[in-house]
Amino acid sequence: TSRSSFLIVANRLPVDRTVGPDGTASWRRSPGGLVTAIAPVMQRRKGAWLGWHGAADELLEPFENDGMDLIPVPLTAEEVELYYEGFSNSTLWPLYHDVVAPPVFEREMWESYRTVNERFAQAAAEVAEQGAVVWVQDYQLQLVPAMLRAMRPDLRIGFFLHIPFPPVELFWRLPWRRELVEGLLGADLVGFQLPGGAANFRMLCRRLLGLPYKSNEIFLEDRVVTTQAFPISVDFSELDTLVREPHIMHRAKEIRVELGDPEHMLLGVDRLDYTKGIGRRLEAFGELLRDESLAPGEAVFVQIATPSRERVEEYRRLRDDIELQVGRINGEYSVLGAQPVQYFHQSYDREELAALYLAADIMVVTPLRDGMNLVAKEYVSCHHDLQGALVLSEFAGAASELRSAYLVNPYDVEGLKREMMAAMNASPHELARRMRTMRRRVATYDVDRWASEFLTALES
Ligand code: UDP
Repeated sequence: TSRSSFLIVANRLPVDRTVGPDGTASWRRSPGGLVTAIAPVMQRRKGAWLGWHGAADELLEPFENDGMDLIPVPLTAEEVELYYEGFSNSTLWPLYHDVVAPPVFEREMWESYRTVNERFAQAAAEVAEQGAVVWVQDYQLQLVPAMLRAMRPDLRIGFFLHIPFPPVELFWRLPWRRELVEGLLGADLVGFQLPGGAANFRMLCRRLLGLPYKSNEIFLEDRVVTTQAFPISVDFSELDTLVREPHIMHRAKEIRVELGDPEHMLLGVDRLDYTKGIGRRLEAFGELLRDESLAPGEAVFVQIATPSRERVEEYRRLRDDIELQVGRINGEYSVLGAQPVQYFHQSYDREELAALYLAADIMVVTPLRDGMNLVAKEYVSCHHDLQGALVLSEFAGAASELRSAYLVNPYDVEGLKREMMAAMNASPHELARRMRTMRRRVATYDVDRWASEFLTALES
């Protein structure tokens, strides 16, 4: 393969395989802001993207897809279980999200994580041009920076963590804490969503490795590692343009009609994950019906819960819990022709999501912990009408930018009920005031800005 001067290294390639009616497979760019933000940089710089292609036990040659060189990194079925579902999603994911579920600590998962990280580093070392810029993404690949630096000290290496970085005393539980921190310190720049994550990391480096730091910089023996916050964002103008299209506006109106024309449509859009606080918001909504603050038919809660990590035990349990809860609320409070909770264990494309965002007058985003939460920023991007209210957890990264949302503590059910009601009863003037402020922020700090600020910091 040819060599590249700009590399993205991520667990997944930015494409999904689709099989047409005639049985031939083709690749389609996966949705999401990260690809959109990085694609122009890739095209300008002869970039390549390394990642797993999504099928276990399959070797695939590098290929090209809309102007990007894609380099598949293979995983065995056992590695998918141990490295991906295991160490990444059963150990690191809950540990980094404030242990809202108990992390598992198993040596064979760790071994597999190390093996796979080594493979990614090796693959990157082979395709990177002399002095290339390599940008490693997220918690699945935290050992890659140091492994890659050992193989290729000429490279400029950046790392960005999309999920929160936990407080020292939680990270401390990890039996392999030292290896993980040393892995990250192989980068020149380690990026986090929030300043708090960067501060946690610097503190950890001092307590665990005795490394001194000053403001953003950690001092190693022979070099300096910069730590900094870069809050990820969405493609504001793309969404803003999309929702002004007649067919999306029409679909949004149609959704309200299909729901039976309720006075209020509340909406939740999440991967079905225990960090998202779906149970908390349903509990609050159920109590509003019980207290008769809301009448069935007056308000409908549409909850989209996209299937996620279904082979992990904790996620199967969560699904059962949520579905039981939805059933109970509907069982108690439905009237003929009106079910208060409309629950969908399905995944939607951007257009349908945009119409749902536009249709909803209350967006309810209540994670117990979330690195950023793009859904909140997408909702804001869609409301050029300046109507609609965002109820947002203080424990989502997005809360540090979207200060004029209806901020809530999802552990406080009374507070949640109060803010949901306040959002439903707010005047159009009040909603516009809040929405305008939030839109200004997301429009200015969009995903392009995120990518370019990271790369500028990496290359300076
Ligand atoms: N999303 C989607 N289809 C769905 C549900 C969600 O495309 O049916 C997208 C959503 O638009 C957002 C992303 O998935 O861009 C979720 O990102 P977020 O940061 O909110 O949560 P994560 O899933 O990364 O934890």
